Amino acid sequence: MNKYVSRYMCYYPATFLKGEKIFGALRRSRDFQWRSASDIAAFQLQKSKEIALFAVQNSAFYRDLYRGIEIEKFRSLSDFARLPTISKQDLIDSEADIRTGWRGPCETKTTGGSTGHPVRVLKNASALEMERAVTWRAYEWADVSVGDPQGRFWGIPHNRKGRLRAAVADFVANRKRISAFNLNEESLAKYYRDLQRFKPKYLYGYVSVIEALANFVHQEQLLPFPDLKSVITTSEVLYPNSREKIESVFGVKVFNEYGCGEVGSIAHECECGGMHLMADNLLVEVDGGTKGELLVTDFHNYKTPLIRYRVGDYASLSDRPCSCGRGLPILENVYGRAYDLIRLRNGTSIHPESLIYVIEDFKKDFDVISRFQAIQRSHEKVDIYVVPKGSWSPESAEHLERRMRINVSDELNYRIEVVPSLQREASGKMRLVKCAVPG
Ligand SMILES: [Zn+2]
Repeated sequence: MNKYVSRYMCYYPATFLKGEKIFGALRRSRDFQWRSASDIAAFQLQKSKEIALFAVQNSAFYRDLYRGIEIEKFRSLSDFARLPTISKQDLIDSEADIRTGWRGPCETKTTGGSTGHPVRVLKNASALEMERAVTWRAYEWADVSVGDPQGRFWGIPHNRKGRLRAAVADFVANRKRISAFNLNEESLAKYYRDLQRFKPKYLYGYVSVIEALANFVHQEQLLPFPDLKSVITTSEVLYPNSREKIESVFGVKVFNEYGCGEVGSIAHECECGGMHLMADNLLVEVDGGTKGELLVTDFHNYKTPLIRYRVGDYASLSDRPCSCGRGLPILENVYGRAYDLIRLRNGTSIHPESLIYVIEDFKKDFDVISRFQAIQRSHEKVDIYVVPKGSWSPESAEHLERRMRINVSDELNYRIEVVPSLQREASGKMRLVKCAVPG
């Protein structure tokens, strides 16, 4: 579909009908990004107080939680940091009490949740409007604008109703969906042909799926997509070698996005490589200073207020300005999911990155692993699934196991299994290191 037809005849009218005025919100957020850092901090304090006061007045849960705290007297963001945090478990246990009586159209967002229980968040129209506006603003950094055709590398709902909804949403937003499931030579060849016909301006979605297509295009010596301007990756950690691979095969720059289902996009990479926070929509804090668990406050969700909400990732913030000149603060690093730590019997936790580094180094040294996934099944055992390539042999497995013992922990048993493909989450997302220890 033509970009302007999509933008003015589908996307804006469809979102307008749902009560969202994205056009105006996008214009405001474009101006906002150039405001000074101190100006933005003052704005954030005011918005944080507003939503906290609104929550106290309209949500039974927050009324109890903030009892005795005088929010109107907060003078700085460090005052705001005195408020208690809330967790996914709170959303599961107290969903009805957290929710306010806000009237007006809402959309339900359901996300997986670490415990296997789905987490439900209702979002009012103005919250969705801001979420979409700041996201489009960030896509403009990647030379993408509303209505540009998108190749979407994502999960496909398992039920018919969900699939139909996805098809309508894809049509309205001018997207061609590439399923994250069943990736093999045959399906990749079909996806490649589909995209050649669709002529996407950008690719969006899971790193692992876009990388799989990049590998296929490279292997088969196919031409990259002619109108492609950029690739936006999301939801999975983007490692330097994946970035290089995608950029070299498709001949465009990769822009990383970080977000979560409950609040939408949290940070986006600019042309200069800075991961800027969407500070006009959210307050992002780190528990305990500059490095720790990430806490987000959504300024515009009046239906399910999320205030100092633990998203479950570890990260660090930076106060360095970005060379692009934008005043939006910078997210330095996201270290991975809190619930993906490997846990030993004695209570020690091992960060998943340590295991990933061992495998990444091994890949560099021997080039015999195409993909991998580690799943901890008990306190004593980690299963490592390897999709091999080249001259993988039983000795490779022994060698990898030895490196794991030395560099990760010798209190764990590592079982290395060769598999043809890896398992994805129900959403289609790939989790490289997963803890499946009950309790
Ligand atoms: Zn920047």
